[in-house]
Amino acid sequence: MTPAALRIAVVGGGIGGLAAALSIARAGHHVTLLERAAQFGEIGAGLQLAPNASQALEELGVLDAVQRTAVAPPRLVMMDALSGEQVTSLDLRSAAYTERFTHPYLVTHRTDLHTALLTACQAHPDITLRTGHTVTHAEQDESAVHLHFAGTTPALTADAVVAADGLHSRLRQALVGEEEPVCSRYVAFRGALPADRMTGRMSQHAASDAVMVWAGPRMHLVQYPVRRGELYNQVAVFESDHYTPDSDDWGTEAELEERFAGTCRTVREALPLVARDRRWPLYDRLPIDNWIHGRIALLGDAAHPMLQYLAQGACQALEDAVALGQSFGRFTDPADAFAAYADQRRERAARIQTNARRFGEICHLEGMGATLRNQLFASRASDDFNDVSWVWTPAPATAPTP
Ligand code: FAD
Repeated sequence: MTPAALRIAVVGGGIGGLAAALSIARAGHHVTLLERAAQFGEIGAGLQLAPNASQALEELGVLDAVQRTAVAPPRLVMMDALSGEQVTSLDLRSAAYTERFTHPYLVTHRTDLHTALLTACQAHPDITLRTGHTVTHAEQDESAVHLHFAGTTPALTADAVVAADGLHSRLRQALVGEEEPVCSRYVAFRGALPADRMTGRMSQHAASDAVMVWAGPRMHLVQYPVRRGELYNQVAVFESDHYTPDSDDWGTEAELEERFAGTCRTVREALPLVARDRRWPLYDRLPIDNWIHGRIALLGDAAHPMLQYLAQGACQALEDAVALGQSFGRFTDPADAFAAYADQRRERAARIQTNARRFGEICHLEGMGATLRNQLFASRASDDFNDVSWVWTPAPATAPTP
């Protein structure tokens, strides 16, 4: 039986919200997406998309569009940021990769991915996109949810609401109660610059198209090409010694310089080219079970904000979106669709959230810990994907309803 078309509101026009809107509309429902910003957009930095994400993008019908500008790196390489020596690598063009994963590992500019999703949403006849709509709260009764907005914008009524409003989600607060995101005391400086500005030693790495992770004591640098290789993305991350919860005066540019001062020459040469126009304090939350409250469900960072060390936050939001669309294709009652979605996604997202913290700790080891890490990682073959396979493989969809 084809379920009757529902009116679904999606709050938030980030990667998660746009993907959810597309997925639910492709399942046959009417979607209104509400974004608080005056214009849709993403920040000027890169994003890694593991095979679980490219599979999700294919299921959403946008993989081809994303691949037009994305780069498929040949290798993921971990270097020791102090010695400049290679620690380990994974060969993304090996036979072992193609045997185990059906979809490519990609790196993309965030704007390019966001534009591909936005364009697909704009082209879908059952999706209405609205900017300048800041949701303040939601009320629900037995048959609908009423969304309220800041200012004079009239309320909107929907059969169900997907809250994809990010780390500081307003709607999550209503479900879970007041709880502040957990600050890791780490901060990122990031951005993409024209690839031809990478000169000297750095140009070799940039030309290789590999994803480079330079791991060091309480800091690391990630580098990879985006947008057909025309731009080179750099993310410098470090722990601040001056964190205070009530101020922004920590994790400064001066601390960035200080923390990276002892790194190898290649990293020190790259550092002046890391974007400094904005700093990004890094937060996550502990996993929660209650992703749904009647006719409201959480998705993406609103449900499972995680540290970026496994490069999975957006990948998991895309998996959420696909699972949600599948559920809305199977159930006529939004509460049933949400329950099936949360059952499929909760455990896996929580596991990745928890392991992202652990991998950050491994990446930032000092002294003997770093030596042991390097020895252990060095013994892994470049076509051994056992450690990452569970992260890069989405959970199978639950069986269709009879
Ligand atoms: P957001 O992108 O936060 O979108 C939320 C949207 O909701 C925004 O557009 C916002 O304006 C809107 N909104 C908020 N409140 C309201 C409201 N009240 N009313 C209406 N609209 C509202 N992930 C990866 O998969 N790979 C990576 O390589 C990777 N690297 C990362 C590197 C760093 C340094 C960081 C910090 C994160 C990284 N991530 C990565 C994580 C990824 O960026 C996030 O998980 C992802 O962008 C979350 O998408 P989202 O749509 O859930 O939330």
